[in-house]
Amino acid sequence: MKRCTLCVMPETYPGISFDSEGVCSFCSKQSGKQPVPSLPKLQAKLDEIIRECKAQNRKYDALVAYSGGKDSTFLIHTLKEKYGLRMLAVTLDNGFMSEYSFVNMRKVLNRLNVDHTIVRPRYDLMKQIFLQSSALEVYPTHLTQFGSGICISCIRIVTNMCLRVAIEKGIPMVMLGNSPGQLIQSENEIIFQDNKIPYELRKHLFKPLAERVGDDVYTYLMLDKDEYKTNPFPYTINAFPIIGYQEDEIYRTIRELGWTKPEDVDPNSTNCRLNSLGIVKHKQVHRFHPYDFEMSLLVRQGIITREEALKRVEDPEEKALRLAEQVEEQLLS
Ligand SMILES: [Zn+2]
Repeated sequence: MKRCTLCVMPETYPGISFDSEGVCSFCSKQSGKQPVPSLPKLQAKLDEIIRECKAQNRKYDALVAYSGGKDSTFLIHTLKEKYGLRMLAVTLDNGFMSEYSFVNMRKVLNRLNVDHTIVRPRYDLMKQIFLQSSALEVYPTHLTQFGSGICISCIRIVTNMCLRVAIEKGIPMVMLGNSPGQLIQSENEIIFQDNKIPYELRKHLFKPLAERVGDDVYTYLMLDKDEYKTNPFPYTINAFPIIGYQEDEIYRTIRELGWTKPEDVDPNSTNCRLNSLGIVKHKQVHRFHPYDFEMSLLVRQGIITREEALKRVEDPEEKALRLAEQVEEQLLS
């Protein structure tokens, strides 16, 4: 398959074109641009919000979405060491997490002395949601070009459940550990309050999934009307573009906390078994890898090399395919 000579964007990606040198339209548009808009401004804003939240003197300054993966492990460590936040770590157990990631979470949180809540939604409904999320009609292209339908649903459930816990417990901010490649790099995605989208519009986005799985999905994918009226509404913060993201530093730091990579996940995930099926299904339906965009962004930002990115978007190896099959069987059981 033809891919961009600078990043790894493939010819099958929606709306892509290449110049005579084989450089993709995303790279051409990007050249010369700062990867993150006005970093000093965002840094100042984060510092101000943290001051404001600490001044409220609540039991917790922040809720951190904790998957047990490498990124959120590093995030909790940094927020504790660098910002001195009092945190509640919240894990959404989607029913498909690597068993070993719970071992990692215990080790890390014991070391950092952070409280932990595990939220585990109904398994039958989670299975139905993940089974149906890969279908072409469920999510629009402006979302599926950045990741698999399974991941879109799961990330949405995680952020929604974290916001719900934050509202219930009066925690003023929710910290997310999306890597810089998982963001579309606009300021509004780095620090925001997630109560701005009109309720009906939001509901419309999940309608195709609700039609396949049932109206119960709305409870897990979005807040209810009263919850959206919470005032002040908690901030959602994707801190990595501000605090920095270097993979070798991340691995070095979290190893010292006792974290080790689980064996029962595919090469693109450090905590979740569902990811393998998300990749296989996405490739069948959309004909490109759900990580093409994210990995290309990381290459353009100099975070990983093109060779490293190519390895991660190659056709899944035998091991990953077997894992995807097992996960699909589990979803159907
Ligand atoms: Zn490119």
